Amino acid sequence: MVNHAQQALLWENESLDLREKYSQAHALYLRHGQQLQDKETIARLLAALRRATDTLAQWMKLQQLGILCSSCAAKPNGSCCSSYMGNNTDLLQLLSNMLLGCFAAPRTVHTDCCAYLGPKGCAFIIKPIFCLNYNCTHICNHLDSQAMQELTRLSGNVLQLQVALEEQLLENIPTFPRDLNQYRLKP
Ligand code: SF4
Ligand code: SF4
Repeated sequence: MVNHAQQALLWENESLDLREKYSQAHALYLRHGQQLQDKETIARLLAALRRATDTLAQWMKLQQLGILCSSCAAKPNGSCCSSYMGNNTDLLQLLSNMLLGCFAAPRTVHTDCCAYLGPKGCAFIIKPIFCLNYNCTHICNHLDSQAMQELTRLSGNVLQLQVALEEQLLENIPTFPRDLNQYRLKP
């Protein structure tokens, strides 16, 4: 269970600049990554998350949601992947991606689009929870109710595993609540 000190620290980190968040998460990965990946509970969750995110991505492809999003993104102000959404990245989500071998770093963007949106879509394996849960009206209109239920089920699987992994990370990095300041970027 996440304690209040940990929560306060996570909220504080939501106000950090994207580059600084990435740098802190990478420092955590370098210091603790191997030890975390070697832990059986975490290794099992990482493997399950890889399967669940693959299954969700394949299902979304079958439903042609990628095409829907590409045509939406091509319109002015069309895509939902804005800098506002991208700012929902946090240390645990970045670290979770790194543990899965995904080191997506924020791009410099000169528009309002998300710094993690690349030419092939979202650069993350594990998206911020806000992004994972977001279903726009285009998607709701595109899918029938059975398909919407399936989308909710598959996203729910990912979400459950994602939250379980984050709890394990917090439990298994003993210094996590206290020593994040040492990971701050030097000015
Ligand atoms: S999720 Fe919806 S708003 Fe976002 S890019 Fe796809 S169709 Fe557009
Ligand atoms: S889904 Fe990915 S690219 Fe889109 S806003 Fe979220 S983090 Fe950015």
